[in-house]
Amino acid sequence: MQYIRAISLDLDDTLWALGPAIERAEQAAHAWFARHYPQVVARFSIEDMRAMRRRVVADFPGREHDLPLLRRAAFNRLAREAGYSDDPGEAAFAAFQQVRNQVTPFADVGPALERLARRVPLVALTNGTADLAAIGLRAYFTAVVTAVDIGAAKPDRRAFHGACERLGIEPGYVAHAGDDPHLDVAGARAAGLHAVWVNRAGHPWPDGLEPAAHVVADLGALADLLGA
Ligand SMILES: [Mg+2]
Repeated sequence: MQYIRAISLDLDDTLWALGPAIERAEQAAHAWFARHYPQVVARFSIEDMRAMRRRVVADFPGREHDLPLLRRAAFNRLAREAGYSDDPGEAAFAAFQQVRNQVTPFADVGPALERLARRVPLVALTNGTADLAAIGLRAYFTAVVTAVDIGAAKPDRRAFHGACERLGIEPGYVAHAGDDPHLDVAGARAAGLHAVWVNRAGHPWPDGLEPAAHVVADLGALADLLGA
């Protein structure tokens, strides 16, 4: 793949495991409410908070991609329903984010990003709310593009084209690598990028989806594939 001039990288579950971080962040938000808005935790469990987060999506048609907005709105709604008359969503989301960014990148990530960034510019393309600076990986990336920036989430082709535009490189010269067969691989392929499936856990490929042209087990293998 010597013709590749830039690499777009998914973040969550590609550079670190997301599930445990979200779980700890939800606990942190719940603990924040216990300190500052105790009626919220008297009434709502962490599972209730998750359900509220899913429920508020209906109130924001066309904003399904905007996770920070949805999380803040859910926190506000919890406070209102518990009898408070102010909107603590911003502060509660900050408590959530602080723990959400306490992730440990997989062991191969640092050395591989070093190799990849020496060969071509890297752009981070995420539907999530990770803060690469807080995580300590920002220096490897030329640009960071989020669903909020673009106004659309992967697999929407606008997300991929937005990442390419930020680097000024045509999709046909860009490889996108990520863990999700639908969001990352099928999405990137439909947008005209070269898709690479990062399959760390050895998952089976989903039935009925056109197979990925390139599969790697980690980012070290991605650097090998791209001749970095
Ligand atoms: Mg991912």
